[in-house]
Amino acid sequence: MAKASASLEHMYRVFTKPEGKDSKLAQIEEHLSDNLSDFLSRHVVTKAKSLEEVEQHFSAHKVPESPEFVSQHAEALLDKLVAHSVNTYSPTFIGHMTSALPYFHLPLAKLLVGLNQNLVKIETSKAFTPLERQVIGMMHDLVYNDSAAFYQQHLHSAKHSLGAFCSGGTIANITALWVARNKLLKPSPGFRGVAQQGLAAALNHYGYNKLGILSSKRGHYSLAKAVDVLGIGREQMLMLDCPSQRLSPEKALALGQAFEQQGNKLMALVGIAGTTETGHVDPLDELADVAKELNCHFHVDAAWGGATLFSQQHKHKLKGIEKADSVTLDAHKQMYVPMGAGIVVFKNPEDSNAVRHHAQYILRAGSKDLGATTLEGSRNGMAMMVYASFHIFGRQGYELLIDQSIDKAKRFATLIESHQDFELVTPPTLSILTYRIKPRHLSHPDIRENELLDELVVSVQKQQREAGKSFVSRTRLSVEKYQQQPITVFRVVLANPLTTEQDLINILNEQHDLAKQTASWKVLHQLSENESAE
Ligand SMILES: *Cc1c(COP(=O)(O)O)cnc(C)c1O
Repeated sequence: MAKASASLEHMYRVFTKPEGKDSKLAQIEEHLSDNLSDFLSRHVVTKAKSLEEVEQHFSAHKVPESPEFVSQHAEALLDKLVAHSVNTYSPTFIGHMTSALPYFHLPLAKLLVGLNQNLVKIETSKAFTPLERQVIGMMHDLVYNDSAAFYQQHLHSAKHSLGAFCSGGTIANITALWVARNKLLKPSPGFRGVAQQGLAAALNHYGYNKLGILSSKRGHYSLAKAVDVLGIGREQMLMLDCPSQRLSPEKALALGQAFEQQGNKLMALVGIAGTTETGHVDPLDELADVAKELNCHFHVDAAWGGATLFSQQHKHKLKGIEKADSVTLDAHKQMYVPMGAGIVVFKNPEDSNAVRHHAQYILRAGSKDLGATTLEGSRNGMAMMVYASFHIFGRQGYELLIDQSIDKAKRFATLIESHQDFELVTPPTLSILTYRIKPRHLSHPDIRENELLDELVVSVQKQQREAGKSFVSRTRLSVEKYQQQPITVFRVVLANPLTTEQDLINILNEQHDLAKQTASWKVLHQLSENESAE
């Protein structure tokens, strides 16, 4: 086989724009794209290779010494990487929030990389900066629905920002809480603010013992990361038990007050609109009142559920979100944009100034550079994908998608409930639900039986994943019915519009078949036979 040489001539060729449709690169592109579409039409897992076997492909620790032709490398990628990837496009991949994307994103992705704009400053992005500001404005309107005059004034204002575009919900949550911290510990006479003087000086100046953030136990782990990086400390991430899966406003108020009675200050209350595990929505309207009572920042994490606002039928479930000081939304979840599209919006356009940063060579004062108020520096033009999706789907298109996902989740819940060997654990508020296997003879499982049921669910989930035809995830939950004991459940996220009811029936049947061959199923049956013999 011919070998690429480490000559500058060869390096220049790699950078050169290929000529014509028949160029070598065009052929490689077509080959990759054929292979991709073949991959995406297969099962969830195509080749059953263990993780350890796949690791063997990636065990060299030195950067390769000499160059390789692009065509050769493309083959290696197909063989080592693509063939062992997870087909998140599969309609039977219903275990996670990452799902199929509309195909128009593939050519758009080429445009994005082709242009390689950097949104950190206008000198490297020009048209992309106004576009991103507009996308943030549209998200702001989706949540807050302010007046036309408001958007006219703030959308492109150099002094304001209606939010921040970032890589995902994690950075959006951190940004929101960063703003909340800097607002709370703002400059005042004799104090130049936490951003300048640091947390120890700020606590000392304001006379607070500690700062805290409050959410339910269903809060996403990005909140724990946020209190860590913001210097608040993970022990001050106060998470309330929520057997009903929703944060109780009364308990939140009581805990907030108890925390403050110890000389501490509650910095923010976080309501969740669509928890990652069960899709529940906290009572946002009441929580907004609690935040007011406690005089703290109210943040809503709508990374998953935010897209519900597109639906006239379902948006009432997020009532009160418009009272939040800040809201996180992930376009790469139910808005069907490729990963890397999170947004935080601020009710008050002044808020992002709490984290504004200037540098001489870049981000000069008075510029419209978005990098001045984002945590991240260099950022790509992902906002274009959101912009395109907003236009290609329209609000009405998104509404149809959201409504059908929720309908499908309800139909799946009915299928589960009408099956004698399954138990619906949390019914869907949005398009997420949890359930487990519970053989029909067990009407009220005791602690020992619940442990066996946990084993059964774990075993079936693993076997199903390994079989590779479908994928359902699992988690552990405390629920009202079994308060004394957390239970292991299957978790289903119905995000892919192409998942059919027949797919769901097949998945249940597969689980049922697997369960019957599992040791704990047999033990459970023996236990009950012994009981009835007694
Ligand atoms: C997914 C999710 C996040 C984290 O978002 P990333 O985009 O994965 O960083 C945060 N909160 C909730 C509720 C989520 O569902």
